[in-house]
Amino acid sequence: MITRYPTRKIYVGNVAVGGDAPISVQSMTYSRTSDIAATVEQINRLHFAGCDIVRVAVPEEADALALKAIKEQISLPLVADIHFNYKLALIAAEVVDCIRFNPGNIGEKARIKEIVKACQERHIPIRIGVNAGSLEKEFEQRYGQTAQGMVASAEYNIKFLEDLGFTDIKVSLKASDVQRTVEAYRLLRPKNDYPFHLGVTEAGTIFHATIKSAIGLGALLLDGIGDTMRVSITGELEEEIKVGRAILKDSGAAKEGVNIISCPTCGRIEADLVSAVAVIEERTKHIKKPLDISVMGCVVNAIGEAKHADVAIAYGKGAGLVMVKGEVVARLSEDELVDRFVTEVEKMAREED
Ligand code: SF4
Repeated sequence: MITRYPTRKIYVGNVAVGGDAPISVQSMTYSRTSDIAATVEQINRLHFAGCDIVRVAVPEEADALALKAIKEQISLPLVADIHFNYKLALIAAEVVDCIRFNPGNIGEKARIKEIVKACQERHIPIRIGVNAGSLEKEFEQRYGQTAQGMVASAEYNIKFLEDLGFTDIKVSLKASDVQRTVEAYRLLRPKNDYPFHLGVTEAGTIFHATIKSAIGLGALLLDGIGDTMRVSITGELEEEIKVGRAILKDSGAAKEGVNIISCPTCGRIEADLVSAVAVIEERTKHIKKPLDISVMGCVVNAIGEAKHADVAIAYGKGAGLVMVKGEVVARLSEDELVDRFVTEVEKMAREED
């Protein structure tokens, strides 16, 4: 059982972040927002994949001016990612649901005040997005690109906003390696109650990004740290959502969908378990209700696993058992097992708790 660190709740559009809100999964588009059609198409793909909040980079004025038209065509909360040019933040703040910027990147205090005032007027939050690779000079010189430097930057930026009376804040502390990322979040967590956006940044292609994010975000989630998250992958948009949701589910931080317990197979196997599990995974991926389902290659461990599973299969030679809540409900030939198993899973998914 994970006990989440108590954080204050903020709202990014209609999605609550922090407090008792479910941990949300975010992603980012890769088009210029001035290409409105491409950006809307990517946001819709992310929405369909299960994304909760979407962020877009806003590097130039044409990109900022396009945000209004994008916002009108989507229903996901929209975050504008701004660096250096405060005027872009002012344009974006008129339409988006959150601004991500670092006060240290913007420069003159008067400009930062203008952004904060714009966010205050529209009641939209600001994400202080600290990145180890772009620390303010003073912190990099003092601490290097370390977790301590990231925390010092975050504390400086938080205080900057607090001194302006602004507390509608969430914070991220991203590095491209797991250890610095985890250390930074752990160092900062006891010092305030702002919601944290988790992420290991620039994590690489899908294989390594999945492993880095599962280790880093998984460790933090098990500590009870994290209110929203992004898995950074050099790859297709949908993969970030798929991996993010899987990390939440498999860490126990979220109860959603089926948890497949399947054996790795060994010399005792007398059925095509690998194909069967692939079919079952595909046919049950739409299920939202949290269910434990077990697919085991022989009776050695199958009965024990079936006792804890909602629905289970124990394969034998050319045949097997389907079990529901540990009770055998059918003895069938191998080619009938998967259909009956999926039927039982879908039936249980429809049942009221
Ligand atoms: S359940 Fe049976 S087939 Fe699967 S790994 Fe264990 S002993 Fe081998």
